[in-house]
Amino acid sequence: MNLLRHLRLLTAAFIIILIAIPATATAKTHVKRAKSPVALATSIASRYWGAVPCQGHITILVQQPVPAQLELDSDAWVTFNSSLGANNLAAPASTYTNCTIALGSTRWPTAASMKQDWDMLCMTMTHEFGHLLGHPHNTTPGNVMNPMFTNYSSEPRLCQTDRPIGTPPR
Ligand SMILES: [Zn+2]
Repeated sequence: MNLLRHLRLLTAAFIIILIAIPATATAKTHVKRAKSPVALATSIASRYWGAVPCQGHITILVQQPVPAQLELDSDAWVTFNSSLGANNLAAPASTYTNCTIALGSTRWPTAASMKQDWDMLCMTMTHEFGHLLGHPHNTTPGNVMNPMFTNYSSEPRLCQTDRPIGTPPR
């Protein structure tokens, strides 16, 4: 699934529908459809960085079992090919292809858990987008590329202000 391209197509379709609506259409036709937490988190992540990694070709995999080579409590991870080989952040990000972001089933076992745990999901998606834009880890407190979660100081402001409908406050 190419989520970002899919979102762009949806936006294009939405614009066409608006043009086709006659002036007599009721307010009901303008009700905004709720975005899924994952779709909203990817949109926030690209707004945060001001860039879309991998030319917009990113596969988001949800409820993934944590691979044996990672820490058992890993929340998410990325895979990609690059001019320097698989998963090599030293390569220019413009050469990344076959990009995936996997969300671990331990942290987010269900769709409902993604809403419940929204702040971590949004922060994690922004972190993983950072990797796909070539950013390595940064241990500065409050930096979104810090691999260790200590508090919400590294949460992008957009995650707090642009919450999905029905998300509990953290
Ligand atoms: Zn990381």
